[in-house]
Amino acid sequence: MKDKVRDWLETGKVDLFLGYKQVDGHPLPHAFSKENLAELGELIVSPARYALEKLATEILAIKPALKIGILGRDCNQRAVNVLTVHQQISPGQIQILEVNCCPSPLRKHAACSTLQPQTYGAVKLELGVDNNMSVAQMDQFDQESLYSRWMYEFQKCLKCYGCRDICPVCFCKECSLENNDLVATGGLPPEVPLFHLIRAVHMAGRCVDCGLCEEACPVDIPLRLLYRKVNGIVKDLFGYETGGSHEQPPFSLLGESTPPEAEPHSKAV
Ligand code: SF4
Ligand code: SF4
Repeated sequence: MKDKVRDWLETGKVDLFLGYKQVDGHPLPHAFSKENLAELGELIVSPARYALEKLATEILAIKPALKIGILGRDCNQRAVNVLTVHQQISPGQIQILEVNCCPSPLRKHAACSTLQPQTYGAVKLELGVDNNMSVAQMDQFDQESLYSRWMYEFQKCLKCYGCRDICPVCFCKECSLENNDLVATGGLPPEVPLFHLIRAVHMAGRCVDCGLCEEACPVDIPLRLLYRKVNGIVKDLFGYETGGSHEQPPFSLLGESTPPEAEPHSKAV
């Protein structure tokens, strides 16, 4: 891996490579460059994950002429595709050096070494939603139970914005979650369920199922499951496979681009 990164930097395939290096015992993102190849000895594959493609996109917004390599898994590639489709980056600006992963139904590779099933207490299992559930298992609940279980989860929210800040495909300059006309400020929990439904709607056709939001959530809200559900609806309705290609046109409810033609939706939302 280090040889490959060295080759990419020396041949100019990339100008910067975002990977991980151990700092004071913690694996942290680090930018490796041709000017400091000796640092490559410190490049590690870490179970810790950061949205390196988000960091790369922010660097490219300032220095668009750069080509940036990142250490990435399937989910990083899907996020790069989404960022390209939404014109946050141009094709080829971010190159991915692949490491193996991943439990997502969208995966190409093997089992993920970082996202493992979690164990939860009796109260959450009785009143809330088990984060380990599949969408099909969740759909077994009747509407009343589903509603009360999700409300139980949402009312735990601290409005820390960790889910939004870590998300590789949250790139809006003005965030609806901070718009006082949409979500009232000054109280906790944030308006339930409005806060979470706004984010869920925004993740439809955009969430790449990386699980970073759920890892970041201090109160274990099953965010990934929620966004899998909305993405499933988008797929059922429009046949849109989120992150599957950087050429697939973006699904747009607002009509700023032509959405794919809707197919009949057989399952109730
Ligand atoms: S799983 Fe969460 S962090 Fe990852 S793309 Fe979806 S919403 Fe964003
Ligand atoms: S990370 Fe969890 S607690 Fe923080 S805003 Fe998102 S849902 Fe709420």
